Amino acid sequence: MKIYIQTDLEGIAGFCFFENRRDAGIENIRHRHRMCQLLTNEVNAAVRAAFDSGAKEVIVNDSHGSGYNILFEQLDPRCRIIHGRNCSGPHWLPLLDSSFDAVIMVGMHAMGGTPAAITPHSRWQVNGGDIYMSECSMAAAIAGDYGVPAVFVSGDDKTVAEVSAKISGIKAVVVKEALSPYQACSMIPAQACQMIYENVKEAVVGYDRIEPYKIQGPVELVLLDSPDHCPPLRKIGEPVTADNISEAFMLYEKAMPWNKFNTVDVDGFIFP
Ligand SMILES: [Zn+2]
Repeated sequence: MKIYIQTDLEGIAGFCFFENRRDAGIENIRHRHRMCQLLTNEVNAAVRAAFDSGAKEVIVNDSHGSGYNILFEQLDPRCRIIHGRNCSGPHWLPLLDSSFDAVIMVGMHAMGGTPAAITPHSRWQVNGGDIYMSECSMAAAIAGDYGVPAVFVSGDDKTVAEVSAKISGIKAVVVKEALSPYQACSMIPAQACQMIYENVKEAVVGYDRIEPYKIQGPVELVLLDSPDHCPPLRKIGEPVTADNISEAFMLYEKAMPWNKFNTVDVDGFIFP
């Protein structure tokens, strides 16, 4: 069995605001390191659970911000990790294809415009508003195009509610109740890791009971967002149309300023 673990930072237990990448102060650096440690622990719980329930191969995608957050030297040595400059490679979900049996999603955040969710951003509007998707459900839908089911999600209560409504039977762990974009009532990290371990184990064992999440094509896609995680949202870029959601998404991403293929620095991006 082959498992893909998609990861983000905003939806881990303990995260409730961003570090400031341009602030070299010690408090900011400590905050960033601390969040990376917590992320690493949650991802490792998912990796161990996947192997403990029969996976032979586990690939982790370090998908937040710079793409270099997880303290990989601490990960279970049986897995491999995709990391480095995010969006400098061939795909937002590199190496994901139909050879995988299931996708696990750890640390997910809500879509832009979600009230009282932790740092909500990226609201993908499908077919003029028939469907709205978060980065998390987008990852599930891209996997769905390959026939791969997304079987587990963790994040705040708003994120889990969105994804659970779209994917029937998905295993989920709410690691925190969001109270505002920057405040949450959180599970203590050790407990979150335990819950992730137990639920990923069940999710991987029962992976073939979950249908791949498929969006019927053709698809018109546009991204809505706001710079401060609060409404109003505005369109970022121009709508694209394609036969399926994966194609539409990649066409869209390739036109975005943060997607600098074959360049070394994507950290300097400033919201337009
Ligand atoms: Zn992120």
